[in-house]
Amino acid sequence: MPDRILIVEDEQDLADTLAYNLEREGFEPVIAHRGEDALQLALRDPTPTLVLLDLMLPDMPGTEVCRRLRNTQKTAAVPIIMVTAKSDEIDRVVGFEVGADDYVVKPFSVRELLLRIRAVLRRSRADSRTSERLVVGRLEVETDAHRVTVDGGEIRLTALEFKLLQQFIERRGRVQTREHLLAQVWGIEADVTTRTVDTHVKRLRDKLGPGGAYIETIRGVGYRMRPDPGDDGR
Ligand code: CA
Repeated sequence: MPDRILIVEDEQDLADTLAYNLEREGFEPVIAHRGEDALQLALRDPTPTLVLLDLMLPDMPGTEVCRRLRNTQKTAAVPIIMVTAKSDEIDRVVGFEVGADDYVVKPFSVRELLLRIRAVLRRSRADSRTSERLVVGRLEVETDAHRVTVDGGEIRLTALEFKLLQQFIERRGRVQTREHLLAQVWGIEADVTTRTVDTHVKRLRDKLGPGGAYIETIRGVGYRMRPDPGDDGR
């Protein structure tokens, strides 16, 4: 059965173009022009495999649609790619308070969007298989044993650094805001600020050596673990 993709987009031409291209790639597109319609459609069987969600909709913000999908049991785990018009909206939409899995900024190419969709689908399928041995390129983490190796060599991390790394790996590919990391790893204490996150990420990167390059800085937003080490300007 083809993967059903719910396109939530009020610009009719764009919605049609997306639907046409998705169909050509073997997906089953469904279009909603309003947030309310999207929420209704998402509840129908079969549940969408992925939701492509425009941030600016006529009846409610895309972030609200995202929140409601997340808070509904049936759609809570459906991956959501947010479509925004401005790149400075990114930290708002990928933050943990909204819960989008990825984002694209308008105008985007259909090719780029398809790559994003495939990546998000792959990731969500991998996440649904439980594993206690996580591998990202040269980096390997055994969660139960709290063991971390880079190129087979063991790296000693503090409990907090391990928790931070685990958080990166479990949500690899997704942008994580400093606030989200703070909440997940530190549990937000009064004397801890987002600067603390930066300090610990730097320390973690240094300890990981070549493995540290997998942690990418998203300027002004936070961090993301990527599958390949890249040039992070360091
Ligand atoms: Ca719109």
